[in-house]
Amino acid sequence: MRKLVGSLALIFCTSLYAQVSNQWKIIHAGALLADAREAVQTEQSILVRNNVIVDIRDGYVSPGDVTGTANARVIDLSNQFVLPGLIDSHTHILSQQEPNPREVRVTRSNEMSTLMGYEFGKRTLRAGFTTIRNVGGARNAIFALRDAINQGIVMGPRIRAAGQGITPTGGHGDGGGFRDDIFPHPHTGVCDGVAECRKAVRTQVKYGADHIKYVATGGVLSQTATGTEQQFTDEEQIALVQAAHAMGRKVAAHAHGKAGMMAALRAGVDSIEHGSYLDAEVAELFVQTGAYLVPTLIAGHTVERIATEQPDFFVPAVRQKALEVGPIMRNALRIAHERGVKIAYGTDAGVNDHGTNAYEAVLMNEAGMPAREILIAATVNAADLMSLTDVTGTIEAGKDADIIAVSSSPLEDLATLLQPTFVMARGNEVDLDVPPVDLFPWPNF
Ligand SMILES: [Zn+2]
Repeated sequence: MRKLVGSLALIFCTSLYAQVSNQWKIIHAGALLADAREAVQTEQSILVRNNVIVDIRDGYVSPGDVTGTANARVIDLSNQFVLPGLIDSHTHILSQQEPNPREVRVTRSNEMSTLMGYEFGKRTLRAGFTTIRNVGGARNAIFALRDAINQGIVMGPRIRAAGQGITPTGGHGDGGGFRDDIFPHPHTGVCDGVAECRKAVRTQVKYGADHIKYVATGGVLSQTATGTEQQFTDEEQIALVQAAHAMGRKVAAHAHGKAGMMAALRAGVDSIEHGSYLDAEVAELFVQTGAYLVPTLIAGHTVERIATEQPDFFVPAVRQKALEVGPIMRNALRIAHERGVKIAYGTDAGVNDHGTNAYEAVLMNEAGMPAREILIAATVNAADLMSLTDVTGTIEAGKDADIIAVSSSPLEDLATLLQPTFVMARGNEVDLDVPPVDLFPWPNF
């Protein structure tokens, strides 16, 4: 029986590959923003072979006009606005806010988290986000999901994954405080002192981390009243960054408080996540070091809303931080943008619901950032931060076919991004016609 299944699988796979190996698609784009830094072009044809963009031509090309394309399928987006697949530089794809996070921590299996991540990934993809940078989540689960997507086993956004976020004992990300016999040892991202911090970085790399995420300061959703200021010492942060860079991995530092942010920038991080208490002095250091800010306004917006509308949802320590940090994040982005800080788009999805990633664009715009720069942040800049410039971020020959469409120009109204009409990820069209499912029995955020 096993032999039969094996040979059937072989036949199936062979024919599948034969089919897939030369599949052409021609996209007719009414309006095309191929590169967010450049002008919109009208009536363009994007030629896609298998997973890759082969060419972009003026006018509407028909099958057979170009050698090899006789059997190409034409995708008619002649009344749509076409742009590169969007990129979210800050997600937690394996989870979404629940009212009982402490219980979940000791009861949910990695296998369950992986399956949840698969569903959340599809929601993210349907929202037009074809690439995400995951910045902390159960290590084995996120690497398995990433690899399964990259190998074409399951559909999902391209994932670059940090593995376990790195945190000091008792810090934002430790999530401890359980009885030792229930949760005996912290995860592999918990470290104190220079030697342990280096080892924590190297351990993530050993198991497959694409980049390193550490928490330079306290965080809003940690279940303790430990503030939002610096937690790792300067020396620990330098050790973390050096160990990561020595192995060719970029570093993302979660930071709200000013001192923690300055320490992280001085240590040489590649991006600061959140940056809530950013001011002119911090902005200057950003510009000097060339680090990106990933603003995550929607995370601030979400926690502030929950804390206001559902006073019992958070424990008091979290509620207080949520009310404090939420409102100041927009101001931080305004200062950063005015002073020329490089900005990469990122949401903290998991705090907000997966699939609502595009709402960040609306909030960034409300904070004073022009639509075009937001689109650059969500494509070219995010790709650069993730070292994926050769792969995605623009619609260009040789890059993966990560292409979306919306019904009107996002340069005029970013809210159009909330409802993509077409999503293609690495040449595969995504089914957008999926009825919404309420995953958790409480209001969506
Ligand atoms: Zn986060």
